[in-house]
Amino acid sequence: MKIAERVARLGTETAFAVSAEAAAFAAQGNKVYPFHLGDLNLKTPANVMAAGIKAMQDGRTNYCANAGVPQLREILADDVSATRSAPYAMENVAIQPGGKPTISKFFLTLMNPGDEVLYPNPGYPIYESQIEFHGGKAVPYGYIEGKNNFDIDTDMLESQITPRTRLLVLNDLQNPTGAECSQAELEKIAELVLKYDLLVLCDEAYFDMRYEGTSKSLVSLPGMAERCVILYTFSKKFVMTGWRLGATIGPKEIIDVIIKLNVNEESCSNHFVQYAAIEGLTGNQTETRQVLKTLKARRDLTVDLLNVIEGVNCIRPNATFYLWPNVTGAMQKTGLTNYDDFRRTVLQETGVSFCTRLHFGRPLEGEDNCYIRMAYSGINPPEINEGLGKLKAFIEG
Ligand code: PLP
Repeated sequence: MKIAERVARLGTETAFAVSAEAAAFAAQGNKVYPFHLGDLNLKTPANVMAAGIKAMQDGRTNYCANAGVPQLREILADDVSATRSAPYAMENVAIQPGGKPTISKFFLTLMNPGDEVLYPNPGYPIYESQIEFHGGKAVPYGYIEGKNNFDIDTDMLESQITPRTRLLVLNDLQNPTGAECSQAELEKIAELVLKYDLLVLCDEAYFDMRYEGTSKSLVSLPGMAERCVILYTFSKKFVMTGWRLGATIGPKEIIDVIIKLNVNEESCSNHFVQYAAIEGLTGNQTETRQVLKTLKARRDLTVDLLNVIEGVNCIRPNATFYLWPNVTGAMQKTGLTNYDDFRRTVLQETGVSFCTRLHFGRPLEGEDNCYIRMAYSGINPPEINEGLGKLKAFIEG
C-alpha cells in the first residue's frame, strides 16, 4: 500500500491515547479520575436541544446553503461584532462542522508551500500537524510563567520571524495553559502583525468560557479585523462538542474561498444543528450561564487542592477549563523525572489521569520546568476531591 507522502507529516492529538490508557485501566476495575478530558460531562442546555429536535422534525434534514443557514450567519455576525468590537456582516461568516475545520481551511486558503507559520508551543497540537501536512514550516513560540498568568514570549516570537514568515496562530485564552493576553500583549502582537505583514488565525474556542472579566479579541485593535480570521465554535459555550458546529469569521475575500472549500469538503454543516445554535445565541441563557457557574466552582476546587500539594504550583486562569500546573518539584520528589513515567505511575498508583507537556508539542530549548494539563470539564467535585487527595498522598509519600 503506497500511502501519500504528505501523510508522513500529519500529526495527531496524542491526548486521545491518554483517554484510551485511562479507559483500559478503568476496564480492569480501577477507579479513574479523568482530568485528561478536554470534553464536558454536562448536558447541552434543554432549550438548545429542543430547538435541534424541532428543526429535525420540521424537516431541516436536507442540505442547506454551503456557507450555512443565512439567519444563523446574520445572528452570529451580530454577536461577534458586539463581543469583539469589530464590524462583521453575514458575508464575513462561513458556518463549519465544528471549530477545528477552520484550522485546515485557514492554511489551505492562505499558506503556500514553504511559508513559515508561527504557532504556540505548548499549544493545541493540530496547528503544527496542519501546517506541516499542507507543506508549510511550523515555527514555535513559547510562553513565560508569571505570577498569575502565562505570557507569550513576544521577544522569542519576533526573533523567529524571517522573510518567509506569513502567518501567525494566536490562541488567546489558551489550551493548555489557560493563558490570556494582556492589553499590552495584544498591542505588541498587533504591532508585529503590521510590521511584518502577517495574517492571523485567532483561535477563540474559549472566548466565552470565562469566569471573571471580559474577553478581548485581537480583531478589536486597529487594522486587525482586516488581517485576522476567527475560529468560532459552539462546542464549549453551549456544551455541543458532539454536535459539531462552529464558524470561520473574517475578511470577505478569505471567507469566499473558505465557502468554496465547504462545497468541496462537506457541502454544508448539519442543517438542523444550526437551528439549535440560533436558539443558543438568541434564546434563554439560564442553563448556558449555569455551565459557567459549575465550571468555575470546579476550577476553584481544583486549583486550591493542587496548590496544597508539595512541589506543585498552579495559576488560576480566568478562562478555559484547563489548568497548567508547574509540577517540577513534585516530579523531582517522586524521582519520576520522565513525563511518561510520572503520568503512568500516577495513574497506576492513584487513578488520577492527566495529559503532560508532551501532548502539546515538543518542549522548547531551555525549557526546564515541567507542566501537566488538568482539565476540570469532565469531572465532578466529589471525584476532584477524592482524586487530588490521592495525588497529594502519592507525591508527598
Ligand atoms: N481550538 C482549540 C484551542 C481547542 O482546544 C479545540 C478543542 O478542544 C478546538 C479548537 C476545536 O474545537 P471543536 O471541538 O469545536 O472542533
